[in-house]
Amino acid sequence: MSDEMNDEMQLIVDGKRLDGRKFDELREVKIETGVLKRADGSCYLEMGNNKMIAAVYGPREAFPRHMQDPSRAIIRYRYSMAPFSVDERKRPGPDRRSVEISKVSREAFELVVMKELYPRSGIDIFVEVLQADAGTRAACINAASVALVDAGIAMKGIVTSVAIAKVNGEIVLDPFKEEDNYGEADMPFAFVIRDGEIKSIGLLQMDGKLSYDEIRKGLEMAKKGAMEIYRLQREAIIRKYSLEEVE
Ligand code: ADP
Repeated sequence: MSDEMNDEMQLIVDGKRLDGRKFDELREVKIETGVLKRADGSCYLEMGNNKMIAAVYGPREAFPRHMQDPSRAIIRYRYSMAPFSVDERKRPGPDRRSVEISKVSREAFELVVMKELYPRSGIDIFVEVLQADAGTRAACINAASVALVDAGIAMKGIVTSVAIAKVNGEIVLDPFKEEDNYGEADMPFAFVIRDGEIKSIGLLQMDGKLSYDEIRKGLEMAKKGAMEIYRLQREAIIRKYSLEEVE
């Protein structure tokens, strides 16, 4: 993000965003559960032009052994971007950004997974970004949540994530690449949702500058967006398990 770019880049034209969305409108979200045979739980998710796949393994005996905790499960989360997921080929393998995203995402799941039920176990969450268009950490968390449910892991709630941004002075929901790159600020949230209600925030980051009022407005927008995504997460899970009953 550069100030020079901010001045030049027209991201809102006639009150609409460049992709035609309203300020508080999500990109189209598609979710499919149970797409990988070998994983205990899996999910394919699209959020606009983002495409990701989540695989959950476990609970299984944690390895290496010295990592085991006799009183609870350990959770590992690996966010990874495929080399072909961005315009210019991304160097494969972990980098500072993916290590950071993996850490903050894992911490959000630490809040909901009932780790004490699985002593000495490991729960491994892998999320691969196949195509990136900003908001990938949020989309990956949404996919991982569904994959955890698909794996039958006991959780106190679901984690649902979405970002907001400030572009040309306006607060917008779920920014895509140009808005994320050339906007004035962006702020991803992850909420813990239980019994159909947002209970807490499990991830909150910010890049850029926002006023208190803008943060308040962004939070309200993010909460509404997250509830919409939550409904789609539920639907995807119910769809899979109700089909299985019929078969
Ligand atoms: P998020 O994807 O969670 O918004 P960032 O704000 O770090 O995370 O990244 C914004 C977008 O920038 C990504 O979704 C992706 O489209 C692009 N991007 C990130 N890393 C790279 C990279 N190494 N090469 C090219 N594009 C990248």
